[in-house]
Amino acid sequence: MSNRTLAILKPDCVKKNLIGKVITQIQDAGFTVLGMKMVKLTEDSAKGFYEVHEARPFFKDLIVYMTSGPCVPIALEKENAVEDFRKLIGATDPAKAAEGTIRKLYAASIQENIVHGSDSDENASKEISHFFSSKELLEINGWK
Ligand code: ADP
Ligand code: MG
Repeated sequence: MSNRTLAILKPDCVKKNLIGKVITQIQDAGFTVLGMKMVKLTEDSAKGFYEVHEARPFFKDLIVYMTSGPCVPIALEKENAVEDFRKLIGATDPAKAAEGTIRKLYAASIQENIVHGSDSDENASKEISHFFSSKELLEINGWK
């Protein structure tokens, strides 16, 4: 799985009509879309996805934000996907994100930061499974 990562275009990205611009930037950076869907996360699904942050002070607000509207999970493929995607999106806090990164360009705050990217190969694999079954990805891409 080291060539895969999970992106989520978060509810603020969808609300600001930035889906197309952000996906263009992702594709122009050499990522291939393996799977994509628009979903509205339930509270349980958002809590499960962000389980590691359960004890953090921002957890409750994060769940409210992530369930506030539709979002777009995208399974992506590229060599060195996890690291390259984190570089493309920039730091969690847009004020600290490098020039030209997606968060620097579009994010309003450390919470409303437009896009999610997996932080390790292990988590990429888990997070892709949160939204896409392996059977589904095989079928979509005609690999079966
Ligand atoms: P990243 O998304 O860059 O991997 P984290 O995994 O640390 O960042 O946090 C998950 C998400 O929680 C962030 O993308 C952001 O939406 C929110 N978040 C993180 N830190 C804060 C904070 N200090 N205050 C509010 N929201 C935060
Ligand atoms: Mg993270």
